[in-house]
Amino acid sequence: MDTPTSTVLAQRKVLIIGIANEHSIAYGCARAVRDLGADLAITYLNDKAKPYVEPRAKELGASLLLPLDVSKPGELEAVFDEIRATWGRLDVAVHSIAFAPKDDLQGGLLNSSAEGFAMAMDISCHSFIRMARLAAPLMDDGGSMFAMSYLGATRVVPNYDLMGPVKAALEASCRYLAHELGPKRIRVHPISPGPLKTRAASGLKDFDLLLNEAAERAPIGELVDIMDVGYTCAFLATPYARRMTGNTIFVAGGVSIIG
Ligand code: NAD
Repeated sequence: MDTPTSTVLAQRKVLIIGIANEHSIAYGCARAVRDLGADLAITYLNDKAKPYVEPRAKELGASLLLPLDVSKPGELEAVFDEIRATWGRLDVAVHSIAFAPKDDLQGGLLNSSAEGFAMAMDISCHSFIRMARLAAPLMDDGGSMFAMSYLGATRVVPNYDLMGPVKAALEASCRYLAHELGPKRIRVHPISPGPLKTRAASGLKDFDLLLNEAAERAPIGELVDIMDVGYTCAFLATPYARRMTGNTIFVAGGVSIIG
C-alpha cells in the first residue's frame, strides 16, 4: 500500500471485521481508513478464509490478523484480548458481517425457521452488540463504531426477506447504543450501502435485477463501489464527524430518497 494520503486518522487504532476478499465492503473500509493513516487489526472467518484475507492484511500493513467466527464462543473475546495486549486501546470498530442459512434467506420471510432467524439475528446483529460491549472499555478517549445495513431495513425490497427485519434490528441497536455510549463520546452509525457485487450478496435471489434497478433509480445514476462506502466510514471516524451519531448514513447514490 502507498504512503497514506492524509494523517487525519494517524495513530488511530481500527478494528475491521468482515473482509472475505478484495470485493468485501470491509476491505474498502480498511483501505480508506489506512489511507487516512490508521493502524489496522483485521479478522478472518477461519482457516479456509485466511489465504484470501492474509494478502490483503499484508498489503495494508495491518498490525494484527486474527481469526474470528462470532458464532464460536470466546473468539470475539480473544480478538479484544489481543487488541488490549498490543495497543491498550481502540478508536474505531467496523462490523461488516452478515449471515443467514440459504433456505431461510431464499424461502420468503413467512417460511423462515426459528433457528435460521435466530442464527441470522445472532451473527448479523447481536454480534455487533457484543463487539460494542468489548470495544467500549478500550475507547477511553472516545471512539466510533459502524455496522453495515441496507435499505431493506426500512423498505420492502423484494427477495431481501429475512434480512429485512434483521437489518431493522441492527439499525435500532445502533441507535440505542449511540444513546448509551454517547456520554463516553463513542459514536455509533449504521452505514447503508447500495447493492454491491460481493460474496454475501450472491446469496440473494435475483441480485442482478436489484443491481440494475438500483442503477436506474439512483439520482446519481451509478452504482456505488466499496471505496465509496469505505471513505464514508473513514469520514465518520474522523473528528470532522464528532457531532454525528446514531443515524443511518446512506451511501447509495440517492436511491433512499426515491418513493
Ligand atoms: P462479504 O461476503 O464480502 O462479507 C461478509 C463477511 O461476513 C465475510 O467476511 C464473512 O466471513 C463474514 N461472516 C459471515 N459469518 C460470520 C461469522 N459467523 N463470524 C465472523 N464473520 C462472519 O459481503 P459484503 O457485501 O461485503 O457484506 C458485508 C456487510 O455489508 C454485511 O453486513 C452485508 O449485509 C452488508 N451489505 C451488503 C450489501 C451488498 O450489496 N453487498 C449492501 C448493503 C449492506
